[in-house]
Amino acid sequence: IKAACAELRAILTHMRRGVAFTGAGISTECGIPDFRSPGGLWARNRPIDFETFLARRDMRDEAWRRRLALDAAFAGAEPGRGHRVLQRLVAERRLAGIVTQNIDGLHQAAGVPDQHLLELHGNTTYAHCLECAARYEIDWVRRRFEANDARAPDCPACQGPIKTATISFGQPMPAAAMAQARELTRACDTFLAIGSSLVVWPAAGFPVEAKRHGATLVIINREPTPLDAVADLVIHADIGEVLEAALEP
Ligand code: NAD
Repeated sequence: IKAACAELRAILTHMRRGVAFTGAGISTECGIPDFRSPGGLWARNRPIDFETFLARRDMRDEAWRRRLALDAAFAGAEPGRGHRVLQRLVAERRLAGIVTQNIDGLHQAAGVPDQHLLELHGNTTYAHCLECAARYEIDWVRRRFEANDARAPDCPACQGPIKTATISFGQPMPAAAMAQARELTRACDTFLAIGSSLVVWPAAGFPVEAKRHGATLVIINREPTPLDAVADLVIHADIGEVLEAALEP
């Protein structure tokens, strides 16, 4: 691990327009379970797809019941060591951007400006109306939900359905963010894949695309990933520990 961190340090020193691609693993130290952790909250329920959310009021109630039950984890979470190191690399202009699958808002909380952050799966720290796009805070939804016998509120302005600002199964990925992420990936000198199992598209596609365009590919993840064989450097260890060690003076 020590030798790998030294190698990572050398790569980060020379990085001029890097891209970090982050998954749930960067936030586990913040108390938000990843998708695969045994007994993790995500594993317990089959996700409600977008079509079902739109079609059935009872499933909207159920979606909000689940989301509000998770709020202690999301609302109380603080950025971890990994988020802080990446924020610093953005501030130093060594990272051109962060592309994330996470929905926890912790890169923003660490101080990464919006123009350097692409959220491919949206954000669960606030909600919006699917008709008129009006924004609603989670606490506002909670008050309505509790006052109305565990029913999901509709938009007071247009009566549209209100949903967390995340991308559900069956919902299109945000086209602009995807296009920008692809552009950054093709132009980067270094691609850091951090805390993602890299098994499903588009997570699995970006590192390959970066490599094809000549970038150095680094994977930091506790478990092996299917792309380890094509990476220039693979570190199977704790993200916070590795990133801090690589940046220590
Ligand atoms: P994943 O759960 O499939 O993979 C996470 C990976 O991180 C795992 O391979 C795990 O071994 C590794 N990991 C966990 N903690 C680690 C640590 N401290 N150090 C090193 N490695 C660690 O996650 P994914 O590929 O990002 O996909 C999960 C999907 O579910 C995403 O699409 C995301 O939208 C959603 N999700 C988001 C959050 C969040 O916002 N924090 C949390 C869970 C799930």
